[in-house]
Amino acid sequence: MSTTTNRLWRLAVRPDGMIKQSDFNLVSEPVPALQEGQLRIRNVYLSLDPAMRGWLIDRPSYVPPVQIGEIMRGLAVGVVEESMHPKFAKGDTVQGMFGWQERVVSNGEGVTKLPASPLPLTANLGLFGLAGMTSYFGLLDVGQPKEGETLLVSGAAGSVGSLVGQIGKIKGLRVVGIAGSDDKCEWLVNELGFDAAVNYKKGDLRTQLKEACPKGVDVYFENVGGEILDTVLSVMNPFGRVVVCGLISQYNATEKVPGPYNFAMVISKRLRIQGFIATDFGSRVKEMINDYAQWYMAGKLKYRVDVVQGLEAAPTAINKLFDGSNTGKLIVQVSEV
Ligand code: NDP
Repeated sequence: MSTTTNRLWRLAVRPDGMIKQSDFNLVSEPVPALQEGQLRIRNVYLSLDPAMRGWLIDRPSYVPPVQIGEIMRGLAVGVVEESMHPKFAKGDTVQGMFGWQERVVSNGEGVTKLPASPLPLTANLGLFGLAGMTSYFGLLDVGQPKEGETLLVSGAAGSVGSLVGQIGKIKGLRVVGIAGSDDKCEWLVNELGFDAAVNYKKGDLRTQLKEACPKGVDVYFENVGGEILDTVLSVMNPFGRVVVCGLISQYNATEKVPGPYNFAMVISKRLRIQGFIATDFGSRVKEMINDYAQWYMAGKLKYRVDVVQGLEAAPTAINKLFDGSNTGKLIVQVSEV
């Protein structure tokens, strides 16, 4: 990697359906010389997240869409290569929305210095990153789980879902996962301690859920949407809570998506359905880090990452989230730690 040039991905066209490499242009540009008050960061790891698909659609949302010609937005961790900024020194590890590129020159705004940690740097994009915040605050604050209740989580073997289920176990719930392969289901039960897991690609989902959740479902952590949400509404208990975290089955839709057919059950079962955005809880990150660090050190929490090599892989690797071939937090490694 040259220190004078930067390779980066700029959005070329808005994707139609799944993301294609040709939706982006990989370009080389000179790195600007540092000015007083600036720092230059070398990206080490980029986080690939399902929400990125939504950022490519030209519609109002919780963040503005990425514009044609702009660098693809994305969370990253990196190392400060050079600094003329009073708060950052060469060698600091930092996190921020540095985007799909090798290096970034910044004035320090939105750049967080990472504390020294015995955990690998990738943990800042997973356990202590967006997935960690999403699962911790989504389940505990939005879902309001109570000991002895049944928690059902979809996308259960994913980065967010696998943490949600483990927090549920730590809090004394019966935890059931929904995932897309037998291998994933086995990992959930045998490695992570879920009470049961069902493969939504095999057999009738409702029958499987009735068996796995004999007392019904009190808290449903929704990562997927579509037919799975519809089926789950039919097994919810009265006064159950549905935490709407994500609807990944719809992110690549090319036509209008129908609403849940079983929506009337929200009335008869007096369900509470609430969406949330993880960053709403940004001011409470310390709370999460303390709990996760304690649980992780006590061996109560397991976590895995799926690291794809090379900046050039980013636009194709992101589809692993949508075809289910990722095994853990999906990350692109851009340079050596
Ligand atoms: P994951 O690691 O869970 O990867 C995505 C998984 O989704 C895939 O592995 C696949 O697993 C499953 N999946 C993909 N397409 C479908 C489909 N059509 N039907 C059913 N399952 C599908 O990703 P994350 O942990 O990063 O994200 C999980 C969810 O959390 C997403 O919906 C995301 O948008 C949401 N999220 C929300 C945030 C918020 O602030 N509200 C913040 C971060 C994430 P399988 O093999 O089981 O099908």
